[in-house]
Amino acid sequence: MRTDRLLHITLGAGAARVLMCDATRAAQTARLTHGASRVCSAALGRGIAGAALLNAPRKGERLTLTFHGDGPAGALVIAAGPGVLKASIDEPTVELPLKPNGKLDVGGAIGREGRVIVVRDMGLKQPYVGQSALVSGEIAEDLAMYCTVSEQQPTLCALGVRIGATNLGGGKGGEDVVAAGGIMIQPLPGCPESLLAALELRQELFADISAAIESESLESLAFGFFNGLEPEILREEPLEYHCDCGRARMEKALIAMGRDELTSMIEEQDGAELTCHFCRSAYEFSVDQLRTLLALSK
Ligand SMILES: [Zn+2]
Repeated sequence: MRTDRLLHITLGAGAARVLMCDATRAAQTARLTHGASRVCSAALGRGIAGAALLNAPRKGERLTLTFHGDGPAGALVIAAGPGVLKASIDEPTVELPLKPNGKLDVGGAIGREGRVIVVRDMGLKQPYVGQSALVSGEIAEDLAMYCTVSEQQPTLCALGVRIGATNLGGGKGGEDVVAAGGIMIQPLPGCPESLLAALELRQELFADISAAIESESLESLAFGFFNGLEPEILREEPLEYHCDCGRARMEKALIAMGRDELTSMIEEQDGAELTCHFCRSAYEFSVDQLRTLLALSK
């Protein structure tokens, strides 16, 4: 099986930036971790690919991307950065009928009213927080609009997840993610009008990006999509679904709940069990351990 990775590409000798990724395995891991329905698997996979692409130009930074819509699946949250790529969705088992065009109704699950919130942790005291309104809840359009409106970076984006029968086993209904990934194109300052026009014309090529990723390598897609526009692959980086939770992080979360909450856990419950929203790992805390945390809280 192929491995997940992300390519950094330039067009027109640096006039535009292209990022492409194959996030098939990460999307499948998210599907299995959350026992996700088809439509929620698509939302998780598109979100993972989108967050990886959005964060790729900024080395060493951590990004948290949240889609807060009014749909039945609730909030979709993805974190991407050094040593972390993980996603969660509030109601992973929500399922919806296919759209008339045969595609999974991710917009219906996420909702069409709401916000995209981006938190970029650049290692400074305060993280950068940006947001914009949802366009369709389909993830790619919402991210492109976020980049254009909130970060003043015009962006074309396509994301896709294909789910089908495989012999891998493990997925719901005998189905797994067979391809997931996406593409993000960003003209850079001074990009000539001719290149912009050429890119607009080629948008249709990316309409079914998951089918493209299923059938061809990222390299061959890049040279096919951008034939004649001087595509040059700069580098590639590996992608891997990985949760960076741990006991220390859970202790911080417990302390942050406050003295009253901790006291009631000690007095009314026989300890506490916290489950990570991203990897479903469970962390148990005894009454004695909770008392130690209570002593640490102000
Ligand atoms: Zn975790």
